[in-house]
Amino acid sequence: MSVTVIRRASWVIRWERGRHVYARDIDVAFDHDGILHVGPDWQGQADQEVDGRNRLVMPGLVNIHCHSGDEPLAKGLFDDVGTPELWGNALYEFSTLIDSDADAKAACQTLMLSELLKSGVTSCLDIAGDHEHWLGVAAQSGMRVWLAPGFRQARWRLSPQKALEYDWNEAAGEAAREAALSVLDRVAADTTGRLTGVVAPSQIDTCHPDFLAAALDEARSRKVPMTVHAAQTMAEVTELHRRHGKGAVALLKDIGVLGPEVILGHGICLDHHPLTRERTAMDLETLATSGTNVAHCPVTFARSGQGMESLGRYLRAGVNVGIGTDTIPFNMLEEMREAIIQSRCRSGDFADIDTAAIFHAATVRGAQALGRPDLGRLFPGARSDVVCVDLTAPSMRPVHDPLRSLIYAAAERAVRDVWVAGRKVLAEGKALGLDTDGALAEIDAAQARAIKVAESARGQAFSVIAPRSLEMPE
Ligand SMILES: [Zn+2]
Repeated sequence: MSVTVIRRASWVIRWERGRHVYARDIDVAFDHDGILHVGPDWQGQADQEVDGRNRLVMPGLVNIHCHSGDEPLAKGLFDDVGTPELWGNALYEFSTLIDSDADAKAACQTLMLSELLKSGVTSCLDIAGDHEHWLGVAAQSGMRVWLAPGFRQARWRLSPQKALEYDWNEAAGEAAREAALSVLDRVAADTTGRLTGVVAPSQIDTCHPDFLAAALDEARSRKVPMTVHAAQTMAEVTELHRRHGKGAVALLKDIGVLGPEVILGHGICLDHHPLTRERTAMDLETLATSGTNVAHCPVTFARSGQGMESLGRYLRAGVNVGIGTDTIPFNMLEEMREAIIQSRCRSGDFADIDTAAIFHAATVRGAQALGRPDLGRLFPGARSDVVCVDLTAPSMRPVHDPLRSLIYAAAERAVRDVWVAGRKVLAEGKALGLDTDGALAEIDAAQARAIKVAESARGQAFSVIAPRSLEMPE
């Protein structure tokens, strides 16, 4: 087995007695099976030696919620629009307008995975629709990918008055569920050891309660996670109140769809949130006692003026919250920065959360949500998912606290090399297994095609649907 040794790393974030700690000038040795050594003077086998001077060595980040399917095409389109009648969210009226066609799927996925890798992500949970390249590109990336094929029984529709309505088609939902499970069968047959399936009913409001309960049964029998969007917007929670007389978490508790296998995206509109109509403030305790996980993706919601109240409060209540990037940008380090800033702004308290807590969320808590205590930390026996950050990068200097430099200032600009399962997958900021240039060559045309489809669906020019940021005078 081939052993890589990072010699005399200037800074290392290692796992010690249940927490991440800094260490200086030590070696990190690993092979394909796992981490062999995080300490001084590795004396064993060394097939590849890496100079660790001027490097921060840290565990790979764990992204528990992102979408490769259509979101890469949404860049530049909907950042300044929302539906005023639906609390300002762009999701129902705008995001659903842009779909990638079959020719664009692989390019979208390639760009998402390469952006994530560049921001230090080694594990990600991708909620998307199946396509012929999905498993192949995921495997080629060299990353650990949790493939979550979404399925649902209803589609969203906006009434002329901008009310959120639902087109139910249970037969189509059953067919989509069957198709998703067949994807999971294919994933289960993967031989790389890096792909895992996820049972993913798309949204709590587009699935009947018994359908959600059956999905969790399926996840438990397959021993894989389940994820579902829940409490993500006020439009959704208002509809749940109309149907069931309760919000998302209370409903999930009633129907038995909570637990350590369950990851809720995004768990924002809970019963303590000032926008909701409840004043019970019991949801956080329900999530904590059931061990249910929340995927927190602050950037996309902050763009609509929305936010979790607050990440620090969830963590203090004992809820396991991991971090996801959701839509564009697929930049985990910027997402972590925004998570801290949002948590402090929403709570009005700088002490609501700190850098150590967000790093823990983006590593260990994400790994917990995926049921993988061997990820997100560097200690002998953990998987060898390792990130090297360049401490000479101007955006990292001066270096007093490299994690703070990375999160608050440098982000992906300082990430140089990444290994997953002991294999190098990012070198000098370039993803080795992904044809990023080829994907970039396709993506402009793919976006133009998607815009044309949206224009004909709406019968409006895109400049009317979502104008560019600046006028273009004749
Ligand atoms: Zn999502």
